[in-house]
Amino acid sequence: MSINCGIRHSRRPRWPVFFLTSIICFYISILFRLPESPGGSQQFVGQFATTGLQAEPATGDVAGGLAGADSLRIERQHGPVHLTLPRGYTLPEPQQRVFETADYQLIAYSRSFAQGELMYVEIRPPGSTAGTDSADAGSQAADDSSADSDDGPAKTPRFPEENFQIMVSFADKGEPVDRRNWGYRAFIALAPALTPGAHPLRVSIGEPGHLRHYGHNIAVADTRFPVYTSQLDLGRFSDQTTSYTAEELALIRRSSAHKATAFARRTPLQIESRFAHPRDEHHVTSPFYSTRVVQRYVIKNGRRQNLEPRRNTHTGLDLRGLTGAPIYALANGEVAIAEKMFFEGNVTFIDHGMGILSVYMHQSELLVQAGQQVEAGQLIGKTGATGMVTGPHLHLSLYIRGVPVEPLSLICLPVQ
Ligand SMILES: [Zn+2]
Repeated sequence: MSINCGIRHSRRPRWPVFFLTSIICFYISILFRLPESPGGSQQFVGQFATTGLQAEPATGDVAGGLAGADSLRIERQHGPVHLTLPRGYTLPEPQQRVFETADYQLIAYSRSFAQGELMYVEIRPPGSTAGTDSADAGSQAADDSSADSDDGPAKTPRFPEENFQIMVSFADKGEPVDRRNWGYRAFIALAPALTPGAHPLRVSIGEPGHLRHYGHNIAVADTRFPVYTSQLDLGRFSDQTTSYTAEELALIRRSSAHKATAFARRTPLQIESRFAHPRDEHHVTSPFYSTRVVQRYVIKNGRRQNLEPRRNTHTGLDLRGLTGAPIYALANGEVAIAEKMFFEGNVTFIDHGMGILSVYMHQSELLVQAGQQVEAGQLIGKTGATGMVTGPHLHLSLYIRGVPVEPLSLICLPVQ
């Protein structure tokens, strides 16, 4: 956004403000820019709605029992993953695509292989029994009932430790892989802007210098991201005459530098078979990647002159939360940022490794510090209305090396 340091006019047309306020009193957006990241410049939009104080119906899902969670949350096993979820919230079963080659078995998982979702890929040696990793580090081989040999327990196939290379790309973009005892895994964004249709998932594997190359098609489904065409007047953000104080500008600049540092981090992957929903209730108040049209204007001599409106895209998910409600870490990681920013308010960035960041905005209270290790489900802060908001909620974002994905598309994945 442009920042003009002009005079701020107090006289404004009254009826449009009143008219729009009556519509959007619980529904406003804010926009701000992220610094340049490796993926190019991104517009980062916070957008939220509070919908009053209706209580969530307490339809308790008690299958799986309670194990230490508070009364609003439930712990359960979902495939290999230990989950902490709001009571009554059920996760979709992810879809999977299986590809076999002479060199490996590849399984890709995604909620529905649609634009804006996360894709999780496992690559195992040929002959592996997918999904039966369960700590097969060699110490528990005795209970392997699937052994088809009379000579003792079957040996789990392994990729060579040395003189071995594997490279993965999706939609012609290289993606990092993480080595596990059973093979390799990758977390790949099905970017919201990816064209629906088939995209190549390529694997190169073998001895360095003698790689064999394979390609598989992943069909990416269309996601109907909501588009709201009514134009919003966002007050200070629509009014291009708005100026910022020196302290605000200093905070904005400092925040931008810190965000750039967080986005540039490349640390070892910390994601294990444990996820949590970030709240103790599930109520989406503004969906991921919805687009809104925002008015822009200047005030000259007390008159409003309209400029070209701007389309803003919401790169996160807004979840209901009154001031003081708990916020939990989605997955294990290290706190990269926990501080007050101008637009985001009190915000926490958790670095899950390999360029995967989760972001929690507008908190009333930060309960962790930069540099601290956190675990999935750990209380990290309280929801609030700090930053450019008019009502409390949690804005949650998930970035895969700079690409935003629907944050909850992570937690249904059978990550090992
Ligand atoms: Zn938001």
